Order: sequence, then C-alpha cells, then structure tokens
Amino acid sequence: MAKRIWNFNPGPATLPLSVLEKIKADLPVYRDTGMAVMELSHRSKDYAEIHSEAKSLLKELFSIPDGYHILFLQGGASSQFFMIPMNLLKEGQSADYVNTGAWSTKAIKEAKRFGTVNVAGSSEDKNFTFMPKNSDLKLDPSSQYVHVTSNNTIAGTQYRDFPDTGDVPLIADMSSDILSHKIDTGKFSLIYAGAQKNLGPAGVTIVIIKDELLSKCNPDLPTMLKYSTHVEKDSLFNTGPTFSIYIVKLVLEWIKESGGLEAIEAENNKKGDLLYSVIDENSDFFRCPVEKDSRSYMNAVFRLPSEDLEKQFIAEAAEKGFGGIKGHRSVGGIRVSMYNAMPYQGVKEFTDFMLDFAKKNK
Ligand SMILES: *Cc1c(COP(=O)(O)O)cnc(C)c1O
Repeated sequence: MAKRIWNFNPGPATLPLSVLEKIKADLPVYRDTGMAVMELSHRSKDYAEIHSEAKSLLKELFSIPDGYHILFLQGGASSQFFMIPMNLLKEGQSADYVNTGAWSTKAIKEAKRFGTVNVAGSSEDKNFTFMPKNSDLKLDPSSQYVHVTSNNTIAGTQYRDFPDTGDVPLIADMSSDILSHKIDTGKFSLIYAGAQKNLGPAGVTIVIIKDELLSKCNPDLPTMLKYSTHVEKDSLFNTGPTFSIYIVKLVLEWIKESGGLEAIEAENNKKGDLLYSVIDENSDFFRCPVEKDSRSYMNAVFRLPSEDLEKQFIAEAAEKGFGGIKGHRSVGGIRVSMYNAMPYQGVKEFTDFMLDFAKKNK
C-alpha cells in the first residue's frame, strides 16, 4: 500500500484507518448478501439493519433524548440553510441568527428569502476572530428560532457554552464539530451536520430534530423539502445515500470502540492544547488571530511572519507528509483541521515539524 499522509484537510476529511479497512473487507461482498453495500436495495433487510444501527449508535453516543428524530438527508449542510427557514419561517415572522463566519453568513442569506432575520450577535467587525458573548446577544423572545454555528471551520472559532434561548427553539449547524465533545443535546430543537468533517464521507447530512418542532413546520412545501416527510418515512421516502450512511455507521462504531465521546473529547483536548501551546510559546514566529477563549479545537488557524514563509511552510510540510494545511482561500494563512479521526500522534509529529521550521527560519 502507498503511504498515507497525515491528512489535515478541512473536509472531506481524514477517516479512521480501521474504518477504511473495514470498508475494504466488506468489498465486493457484504456478509452473506452476495453483493456490496452500495448494491443493496435501500428496502432490503440488510440495509435496514445498517440504517437503524447508525441511528441507534448516534442516539446513544450523542446522548440524544427521547422525542427526537434522526434523519439522513442529502444536499449537504448548505441545503439546511434554506430548508430550516422554508419549514419554520413565514413572511412577517423573524428568526435570530448569530453571525460568526462564512457559514453563518450563508445561512442568513438563505433565511432572508423566507422571513426577517435579526442578527442577534456578530463577530464580523473583527474578522470573525471571536465568539460573541451570550450576554451580549440581542435575542428577540418572539423569534421563531435562534440559529448558531457551533464551530466555524474557516475562522477557527468554536462555542464553549451555547446561549440560553428559553422557549425559543435553538438550532445549530454542527457540521465541523458534531460528536467532538459532550454537549447538552436536549438544549437544541434542531442540529444539522454534513457528515464529511467528523462523521464520514460526503453525501449524507445528519439532521436531529425535536418532535415538537414538526408541528410548527409549514405543511405547504414540496414533499422532499418537508422535514415531516423524512420523519414519517424514516429517511426512506426516496433512495438515500446508503453507502455514506453505512460508513457513518462504521465511524460511530469506531467512536464507541474508542471509549465514546468522553474519550474522544479528552483526545481532542490533548491535540488542541498541544498545537495552541506550540503557537503561543513561539509567538515570535507563529500567531493565532483568534481570541484565546474562542479557539476551535477542530480547526486551528494561524499565521507565520510572512506569506512567503507560509508558502514555504506548506510546501515543506507536504514533503514531510502533512497535507491539507493551507488556510481557506478567503482568509489565507495556515489551517490545521484536527477532527476526531486525526490521532494525537499526527498532531505531535506536526508540531515537531512546526518547531523545527521555526528554528530554521527565525
Ligand atoms: C462545511 C460546512 C458547511 C457546508 O457543508 P456542505 O455539506 O458542503 O453543504 C456548512 N457549515 C459548516 C459549519 C461547515 O463546516
């Protein structure tokens, strides 16, 4: 086998090697079915088992209380940007949005097609380098819902404590930090995430929706765009992304075998603490623009003294087997994505490279 690199891509992102090997072992024949998983009927007993197992593992690992539905949809997290307001926001009604980066901005743009958006808080004035304090949010109690982005994949910021929204439903885009640490899942009325960062490959979007929210949804929508359709049909109204869901199931099994969210969270803290300590202890060379208490433990962004050095850093890193560290084209610099499947060893070796590079180029 050709050598695998330490893959710090922001998404699609690295998957656990054991999961990739499991996929390989299940090819070209899955169990006694006589065919591969992607050839199974989505109505077959064998696929039904995969589907329900993925749901029950997610419920267990993410501590999803009863009274929620887990959906496997398509169209990416980006389709949730419009599907949420299309279902929950009518003309004359308003929704609160916290604007913490490029993804929130896109969500706001889509919501404006359906109703009024109240930007309850924003970090745009400082290039999204901090998370607005909950006490500073201007939440409107008559709002239909509050929308937040739990982890800002491009800006490198992350929520520590989510706002308390009282009776107003809280909705979160958790595409880039779902299942990276324990949260109070019951605080949310809707959680959504594209799978390709922390949960599996591209092609499936996870939506976790509270039953109570369904009665508030606009009934007068195209069938495929109504949450109720997918709840009633258990995400099998049409042919779902069966192969992606199967891989999500394998990733969830891997999380469970690794010790569940507690163990994953401890590992993520270890990785993030190491990387940020190397940045902060070498502040004459590396600089993280994000305020300390807002830093993301999934996507760390930082700068070097010059753009030329950043180019050289990315090129030398690639030679040494570290990939995907170029910052998003909108912000530049370096971005290191350390999702669940990136082992501590990968971050350790990368920080050794950082220290070595700094010493040689100071
Ligand atoms: C990647 C990402 C998206 C977009 O996801 P798609 O599945 O590509 O539509 C949305 N929100 C956040 C926070 C992301 O990181």
